[in-house]
Amino acid sequence: PLQANNLSEADNIKVAVRVRPLFPHETERGGTSVVQVSSNTTIKVVVPGPAGTSMQRDFAFHACLGPEVGQADVLHLCGVPQLLDAALAGYNVTIVAYGQTGSGKTYTMSGREEVISSDGYSGGDTQHDGIMTRALQHLFAAMQARKGDTKYGVAASYLEIYNEGIYDLLNLKAKNLPVKWDAALGFYVPGLKQVPCTKIDTMMDVIRTGMQHRHVGSHELNIESSRSHAIMTLTLHATPADPAAADYGAPRMGKISFVDLAGSERLKDTKSEGAMLKETTNINKSLFVLGKVISALAERDSAGTSAHIPYRDSKLTKLLMDCLGGNALALMIACCSPASTAVEETLSTLSYATRAK
Ligand code: ADP
Ligand code: MG
Repeated sequence: PLQANNLSEADNIKVAVRVRPLFPHETERGGTSVVQVSSNTTIKVVVPGPAGTSMQRDFAFHACLGPEVGQADVLHLCGVPQLLDAALAGYNVTIVAYGQTGSGKTYTMSGREEVISSDGYSGGDTQHDGIMTRALQHLFAAMQARKGDTKYGVAASYLEIYNEGIYDLLNLKAKNLPVKWDAALGFYVPGLKQVPCTKIDTMMDVIRTGMQHRHVGSHELNIESSRSHAIMTLTLHATPADPAAADYGAPRMGKISFVDLAGSERLKDTKSEGAMLKETTNINKSLFVLGKVISALAERDSAGTSAHIPYRDSKLTKLLMDCLGGNALALMIACCSPASTAVEETLSTLSYATRAK
């Protein structure tokens, strides 16, 4: 099996790149594959230049996954099981998918959106299941294995940030929810539905319902789901199975956020007027602030200084604050198309991802 060999480094933020297969609609428009994974940790892009010239650009990340990598291998290649085990031990963890619309973010995080959000979907498309479903299976198996000494409680929430407004994907009536600050809780969304999950089926329902609502909601509001950020959060609470166990210490809390970000493409200025412009600015603002937060954290890690981290500059970074920085562990998966027709966006994705390393 393939091994991602840089995953054991002590970095709190790890960056992986996933290149999806070239699609017929891209070849039909004359697209060829210009992105190659050259090793487990390096990737090269052949940028077409004028008059048949080209230029090669190389990038290095903690893990690089090519088009041949299937859903089942993404987790261990990106070190997801280690992150999940850390969350069970009380750490806060974030897994973020970044990239232009159509690059495979939703596929990577959730599976095939077109299948999961269709009417009457009742699960079972396991081959295409994404990180979230597989992570839940890993978590439940790990909790089961430890039930002799630890009792776990799990609650799930699923929200969407659109145009700096917050929508509860588990309760369609909850629109434009506020973000509040609490000294003990940090930033939180009052009234956000928290579903206690004692069985894996309940969690699978949460994923399915959230994704279907993301779809329905975007129709009702006449927006595109590619312009919203979706965050599914699991809160884990561990207490000793035997309350008299002396060596256990205080109850432990861990948290895992799965984030499917809005498309990173820059929208054409000509179409961006009025409400559209506000929306575009807000989406790019969240991604821009997230980039600033992550690179400030990466810099702080390497320089050991106490740089200012601008969490408060967007709703997205407020809500992710306790899952980024401090003792938190983060994985960013930068998704890209291999097509020559998408090379500009791919380069911009790879340089965003490089700043996060
Ligand atoms: P995004 O969420 O970034 O806009 P999607 O995840 O919806 O993109 O992917 C676009 C399309 O490509 C979907 O039909 C999805 O199922 C498919 N797709 C994405 N990545 C892969 C992959 N690695 N293998 C096969 N199909 C993929
Ligand atoms: Mg998507």
